[in-house]
Amino acid sequence: MRITDIEITPIAVQDPPLLNSEGVHQTHALRSIIKVTTSNGLVGWGETYGDDVMLHWLRAVAPRLDGVDVFDLNHIESIVDDELLTNADSITTDLPAGAGYPMANAASVKTRAAVFSAFEVPCLDLQGKSLGRPVSDLLGGRRRDRVEYSAYLFYKWAEHPQKPYPADSWGEVLTPEAMVEECRRMVSEYGFQSIKLKGGVLPPAQEIETVRALRAEFPDLPVRIDPNAAWTADVAIAVGQHLDGELEYLEDPVSGTRAMAEVARRVSMPLATNMCVTSFPDIPEAVREGAPQVILSDHHFWGGLRKSVELDQLCATFGLKLSMHSNTHLGISLAAMTHFGAVARSLAYSCDTHTPWQTENIIVPSEELTFKNGSVAVPTGPGLGVEVDEDAVAALHEQWRTCGVRTRDDVSPMRAVDPAWTGDVPRFFTL
Ligand SMILES: [Mg+2]
Repeated sequence: MRITDIEITPIAVQDPPLLNSEGVHQTHALRSIIKVTTSNGLVGWGETYGDDVMLHWLRAVAPRLDGVDVFDLNHIESIVDDELLTNADSITTDLPAGAGYPMANAASVKTRAAVFSAFEVPCLDLQGKSLGRPVSDLLGGRRRDRVEYSAYLFYKWAEHPQKPYPADSWGEVLTPEAMVEECRRMVSEYGFQSIKLKGGVLPPAQEIETVRALRAEFPDLPVRIDPNAAWTADVAIAVGQHLDGELEYLEDPVSGTRAMAEVARRVSMPLATNMCVTSFPDIPEAVREGAPQVILSDHHFWGGLRKSVELDQLCATFGLKLSMHSNTHLGISLAAMTHFGAVARSLAYSCDTHTPWQTENIIVPSEELTFKNGSVAVPTGPGLGVEVDEDAVAALHEQWRTCGVRTRDDVSPMRAVDPAWTGDVPRFFTL
């Protein structure tokens, strides 16, 4: 079953002004939709980052996959490696230092893994379709029928400062009371059974207050906070000690595995990361240091779904736990995340998802991928089990063409409001 055509379509979806340690989300988030057609007429789908650099590499690799068998994933990986390692200097860019942004260095393991993943997922979709089996079966078979996700709470502005973008339906959220309201709506609409708070925005003492307000209002729901390395080690230790017994984990309070381990030795809750352990070469140091203890997997930058299974095995071997990271994503990615979530033995926490923040999608709504009690059912149809709405893809491509956003950059829109803003971390040196 050989590849005869690959179509790569950049799209843009509206994104609310969500705040983080780097700045604020832009008016639009970018994704690439990858459509792979085979010699027997099957079509497989993938979804990944949509920044210009990613598009460059996807378009460079795609013609080289013409005629390749969709089961020959190792060969596809070697083509990706060859393309990126040979032509790493072929584009020069001035990239923002985005958290989780994997594309800064074409020769890096993480960048090559991200590009490979973009092709691996549609090939697995095709393998599943040709066999009449869901992707979770190709990954070893599901250990659970539903995958749980958490309410992903953000501090936010009421609207983007840029006009003419209208206010979203969530309003301004900059106080503990407003955050409790945001959480109440998200829990009532999606049924989430756990809470993730994106921190690193307000002074740490105020974020502690927010965590306590959420705990008081939702005593049965575990809470975690992710300040994206906005704190010094001293601040992180102080926050961790103040919130002793209140957090299921503390996510990336500081930068770097050694600093994370220093914090981990002084606080009671586990430390989690999607910033300091983001590819396989990062794992030995984490094992040596004994922290972070929770890896936030993400098939988009760990090299696809099969490599995520390898990560799961390593976590089981070394006593680490898995949770799952999310960037803004649509339904193809949600399906892929759910197939992996279904098979991962080390998955010990609800996964992150940005789904509640997106008002647009590219898949035909399905019962399986609809949130109930905070979880979605593992699709049982062949492949990923999603039906893509190609008219929606076309409309969001048109939005991409006109929106002006070409690279994820949370710093510049914040700087437009605060000219002294750098986005540098750590930002908070005291409670
Ligand atoms: Mg994170």
